[in-house]
Amino acid sequence: MRRRIVAGNWKMNGSKDLAKELVGYVRSETGSLDNGVEVVIIPPALYIGDVLSQARGDLAVGVQNIAQWESGAYTGEIAPAMAKDAGCRYVLVGHSERRQIFGETDEMVARKVSLAVASDLTAIVCVGESLEEREAGQAEAVVARQVRSGLISVTQYSEWQNVVVAYEPVWAIGTGKTATAEDAQTMHASIRSVLKDMGAPADEVSVLYGGSVKADNASALFAEPDIDGGLIGGASLIAEDFVSICRSLP
Ligand code: 13P
Repeated sequence: MRRRIVAGNWKMNGSKDLAKELVGYVRSETGSLDNGVEVVIIPPALYIGDVLSQARGDLAVGVQNIAQWESGAYTGEIAPAMAKDAGCRYVLVGHSERRQIFGETDEMVARKVSLAVASDLTAIVCVGESLEEREAGQAEAVVARQVRSGLISVTQYSEWQNVVVAYEPVWAIGTGKTATAEDAQTMHASIRSVLKDMGAPADEVSVLYGGSVKADNASALFAEPDIDGGLIGGASLIAEDFVSICRSLP
């Protein structure tokens, strides 16, 4: 009923060679999987063409960021419609690195989500609390605020079909510390109840987990009822590990 997705966010890593070798391998190894996984590769924008040519329509491709404007004098930015035109099906919005390093606010996230959906891209909207927020007992409240404000413009059923939420606790990203499957499930269930409260078709919106997902912990996370797949950083750059994570979806 909901899409089950494993997406590899390369961040600012990779090369033409990686696009050629890794994507071809992932394509051939995941093509025969019968677990219904949709595999998405999200490389730096300059390599989208290389990844698309290796993906040959069997893997989906996404862009890591889009502008909050439709077009115009914004040097260095990528318009949502351009990402679509270039062949992307997905876009990451509001990754914690964008929020923390580049000052992206909930309002900017909301504008980007609105434009992405209008361009018929699926927005993977990233949310997640910091360590301080978790230790202060505010994790669920912080994530609920990010979900509500980031998705404020999404109202129609057809628009919700272009929205995926990725829960990525900031303290788990690139640290080797993963949320326990139980804690992640608790947060995913909480996100789903926020979505329901917003009037979304909550049972149809995929909620992915991200943050130090590896070949050896993916199965436990993906076995949880409200975890519909993963957003993978470091392990998405290692072909065998990424394929093994794709296989871990039940
Ligand atoms: P890691 O898997 O390297 O922790 O990164 C997670 C992430 O930020 C994916 O978007």
